[in-house]
Amino acid sequence: MKPVIALVGRPNVGKSTLFNRLTRTRDALVADFPGLTRDRKYGDGRLGDYLYTVVDTGGIGENDDGIDVPMTEQSLTAVGEADLVLFMVDGRSGLTAADEQIAAELRKLPKPTYLVVNKTDGLDPDTAMADFYTLGLTEVLPIAAAHGRGVRSMIETVLEAFPDLEPYFDEDGEPVDTNDGSIRVAVLGRPNVGKSTLINRMLGEERVVVFDHAGTTRDSIEVPFERMDKKYTLIDTAGVRRRGKVYEMVEKFSVIKALQAVEAAQVVVIVIDAREGITDQDLHLLGYALDSGRALMIAVNKWDGLDADHKERVRIELGRRLEFAPWVKIKFISALHGTGVGDLWGMVEKAWDSAFIKIGTNEMTRIMESILAGHPPPRNGRFRAKLRYAHMGGNNPPTIVLHGNRTESLPNSYKRFLENRFREVLKLEGTPIRLEFKSNT
Ligand code: GDP
Ligand code: GDP
Repeated sequence: MKPVIALVGRPNVGKSTLFNRLTRTRDALVADFPGLTRDRKYGDGRLGDYLYTVVDTGGIGENDDGIDVPMTEQSLTAVGEADLVLFMVDGRSGLTAADEQIAAELRKLPKPTYLVVNKTDGLDPDTAMADFYTLGLTEVLPIAAAHGRGVRSMIETVLEAFPDLEPYFDEDGEPVDTNDGSIRVAVLGRPNVGKSTLINRMLGEERVVVFDHAGTTRDSIEVPFERMDKKYTLIDTAGVRRRGKVYEMVEKFSVIKALQAVEAAQVVVIVIDAREGITDQDLHLLGYALDSGRALMIAVNKWDGLDADHKERVRIELGRRLEFAPWVKIKFISALHGTGVGDLWGMVEKAWDSAFIKIGTNEMTRIMESILAGHPPPRNGRFRAKLRYAHMGGNNPPTIVLHGNRTESLPNSYKRFLENRFREVLKLEGTPIRLEFKSNT
């Protein structure tokens, strides 16, 4: 598991500057999806072979009512979920009353906390820090987030608090393979959308053999089971109730929990409640799942007993929201009555097969050539890109690496065309794909 680090501090101390610096490299990998409410408060940072998650609590639920509440409910929740807190202060403005208020609140929470004194550029770090020792925090780290000074050694210091950290990358810089041979499915959704009902129904099926050694991943339960000779692991954020056993978990919506379930999964099923329509939280979840590159489908639950008008409204809204990700499969179900639940299995399997497709370089190059034959890269100014060969660069999402010349001149519209054609030819369902272009000139 990646450690979760919360950035806390009054406005303007430099939290988002630090957040951007720490997560910059990872953020670049993330596609931008128009029309989705983006929530850039969560990101991954990397130090050598290790990854950690950073949460900027600053913008979370910023209160605009003018009342001087240094930490909102949601910031406190984020802190509660974090493994460690970086409490940021401004070395230029010195200690303020708001800093003291936040420190007092942090003291009530039993979390390892480091004091980070920012904006020490051009200042004597010792003098800049001296002011803040009265806050009673022993670990004080000076940085200049805007210039990157001290940031790396700060992270090094902080990560020392996690001696058991597992590297995310091997000697070749490739992500460590944690695949246990099972199809790993996460069922996600807001509280009350029907996740438990759905999971119980899925696991309650006769052909499903649930093994008893359920494990826990932070706030989720991992349930291994077999269905028709295939191994699965269900990552359950709600808490399954089965065969009289109750795994007690008070469900409260938690972004960290959702992010980690997505991370631990290969296929994500987002459950939404047709009666409630699509809420902001649903869209956030969708955003995280899309960012992850995992195979993804949406189960629109409580489809039973809705009138035709209501159904039509939900269909239209979903279509509009998913215009930019038409590969996301949607299934209308009733977990309560079991309608449509059987089909979800087939969709999960197909999505997994698509996400882990294996194609040799010769075949991939042939496919590329057949696509180009009907529709070569357009001229862009004086340049025309040339694509020479293609191969797979990874799975989940399937990544296709295209080698050629002047590929930087390829317009986005043409890249999208390629993406769609590859998806069609490879018969991929329920997974995004990623194209990477490598240019010699
Ligand atoms: P936040 O409200 O805590 O997220 O603060 P921001 O990251 O938005 O930063 C507030 C202001 O401080 C911006 O104008 C930044 O450019 C500036 N700032 C951030 N880090 C540094 C730093 O290391 N040195 C200096 N001199 N300015 C900084
Ligand atoms: P969770 O919090 O997401 O795990 O949701 P639950 O599975 O506990 O379900 C919340 C409520 O919605 C319960 O009262 C369920 O009986 C009800 N519910 C779940 N699925 C359906 C469904 O398909 N149709 C209807 N009408 N109600 C459902």
